[in-house]
Amino acid sequence: MLASGSSGNAALLATDNTRILVDAGLSMKELAKRLASIGENLEALDAILITHEHSDHVSGLPVLARNKKIAATIYMTRLTAPAIDWGETEPRLEPFQAGARLRIGDIDVQSFGIPHDAIDPVGFAFEAEGVRIGVATDLGYIPESIKFHLRRTDLLLLEANHDLDMLKVGPYPWSVKQRVMSRVGHLSNLVMAEFLAQDLDSSTNNLVLGHLSEQNNHPAIVSMFATQALAQRGLATRMSIAAQNSPSEVFRF
Ligand SMILES: [Zn+2]
Ligand SMILES: [Zn+2]
Repeated sequence: MLASGSSGNAALLATDNTRILVDAGLSMKELAKRLASIGENLEALDAILITHEHSDHVSGLPVLARNKKIAATIYMTRLTAPAIDWGETEPRLEPFQAGARLRIGDIDVQSFGIPHDAIDPVGFAFEAEGVRIGVATDLGYIPESIKFHLRRTDLLLLEANHDLDMLKVGPYPWSVKQRVMSRVGHLSNLVMAEFLAQDLDSSTNNLVLGHLSEQNNHPAIVSMFATQALAQRGLATRMSIAAQNSPSEVFRF
């Protein structure tokens, strides 16, 4: 995870042959800096895969698309592409249908629609060399169809956006609070913990909780919710929290 949270999201997923950037919600300069910190660079990217058009996921994208040194193909759903302000340039787009299965280099990508207030938002399940990675952030709740896609993952990035009590007493206007809590908003710590307690696969050795709200959540609270839920299941899952301002550790399989 290069960054995770309401102010910007990006992650790198790579095999020996293929490098995919998942979301581009940081400036090009910041993305380059964070990639360099793990020995990677923008020029080597094969693909940029976008979950949805909210600015915390695409703010750096038009600049990346305009840069001649970056050869990556941009993948996003057919309906998402027109929602982005590309400026003068015609981006190198590979549009797909939400729910489609893609092959990018040697990585299999299963997209799936997620309940969120964007035009056509998706999550992803990646598979390469027998390793499965699930990405599900920016969703109001977890329907059964998404639980299905998140099964058998070795690493799961799951949203833990807000603490309901902090959100209720916090500074957001009531309309925004309602939006965040709605079925097309963001996952609360409570709903995240319910998923861990009931549905998390025992094959998921690495759980990464992300997209924490800076105003309405705290890593210590997220950790408490998750630890309790995992203990309830007797799972020895390794849990970490992805940060907004610095890259996470590199997970290797
Ligand atoms: Zn969003
Ligand atoms: Zn977001």
